[in-house]
Amino acid sequence: MISVEEAKELIKETVSPLTIKEVSVVDALDYFLAESIIAPLSIPSFNQSAMDGYAFCFEDINQSITIVDEVAAGDVREIETEKGTAVRIFTGAKVPAGYDTVVMQELTEVSNNQLTIKDEGLKMGGNIRLKGSQIEVGDVGLEEGTKITAAAVGFISALGYTTIKVYKSPRVAIIATGNELVKPGNELKEGQIYESNTFMLQAALNKLKIEPTITVVEDNQSVTQKAIEEAIQNNELVLLSGGISVGDYDYVKESLDNLGVEDVFYKIKQKPGKPLFYGKTSSCYVFGLPGNPAAALSCFYQYAYPAINLMKGSTDAFLQKIKLPITNQLKKKEGRSVFYKGFTDFKTVTLLEAQGSDMLKSFALANCFIYIPAKATLINEAEIVEVHLLP
Ligand code: AMP
Ligand code: MG
Repeated sequence: MISVEEAKELIKETVSPLTIKEVSVVDALDYFLAESIIAPLSIPSFNQSAMDGYAFCFEDINQSITIVDEVAAGDVREIETEKGTAVRIFTGAKVPAGYDTVVMQELTEVSNNQLTIKDEGLKMGGNIRLKGSQIEVGDVGLEEGTKITAAAVGFISALGYTTIKVYKSPRVAIIATGNELVKPGNELKEGQIYESNTFMLQAALNKLKIEPTITVVEDNQSVTQKAIEEAIQNNELVLLSGGISVGDYDYVKESLDNLGVEDVFYKIKQKPGKPLFYGKTSSCYVFGLPGNPAAALSCFYQYAYPAINLMKGSTDAFLQKIKLPITNQLKKKEGRSVFYKGFTDFKTVTLLEAQGSDMLKSFALANCFIYIPAKATLINEAEIVEVHLLP
């Protein structure tokens, strides 16, 4: 059995970015750049007024200046300028070449077309965004591996791009196993339970803009193996739920072995989710998640979620970590790392009740994990702990 740290290292080492595709800039939201964005132009591409006001020569600041023209945003004229003159100008407009300063209109007086400047603090170059002050032509705007946010969509569009190259998102299949499972909406006999893991994992994937295919199979070796075989052929990621332990009805591991899925790790010194399996073929990554719902989702976020990010070309794939003081005392056995469900207000973190690997009630209210390493046995109130934020 390996440690949590070793397991995460193995995920990092074995998962590579998928192939590249070209998408329109707005559709690139939440993808990762497969190329660095180079500026084909400077921004601004001309000296631009940052204010509604008047453009003039700074050396005329103490004299009355004649207003000779008006320049609005989008005005492309070349305007001749002379000493002792100014133009009315608006935010975003090109500052005529002979002027070096803009005064905001609130700090001026105008009468009979004569401008008087009342801005004591104004300096030469004031209120002008100089050409290239945000980015110069030829410079790197965003590095390969950057996640595309709404602001990045705006920035890349402002550089004039219509399409960009991003890493593909994986096609994902979920296969749930279990004779006891009944789809919600159907009658439940005693001894059966409603199948919930596929909906839960689907929701977690939907948040990553991935629409998985879903199959539920009974505990039968050949049926399980056939479903996995087909899923591996058609997807880059297969998430199995249940049947990965050592019970007589657990057929997942045997099926994976029969199909030649390379075993990267099986079983981790952790709680919940000790029986987690992770393996791969030449074209597909496979996680055998535990059937217990909270364990399945914990393993998804700790291992499968970063694997998806790595496939998508992220360089910062794991859940975001912060350190915070805990509000409760916590006792655990030595030997296994634990992912507890917690709630944080970003000043402190609180351990939630009902931490069982079968229990989703507390998980439903959690916004983070509290990660306690294998060695620790006692955490006192106010001690600093590692918090992993849920996406
Ligand atoms: P297993 O890992 O197959 O031994 O299942 C462990 C526990 O999780 C059992 O109590 C199962 O009934 C439950 N379980 C397995 N699969 C699911 C599922 N898809 N939805 C809800 N509970 C499940
Ligand atoms: Mg089972």
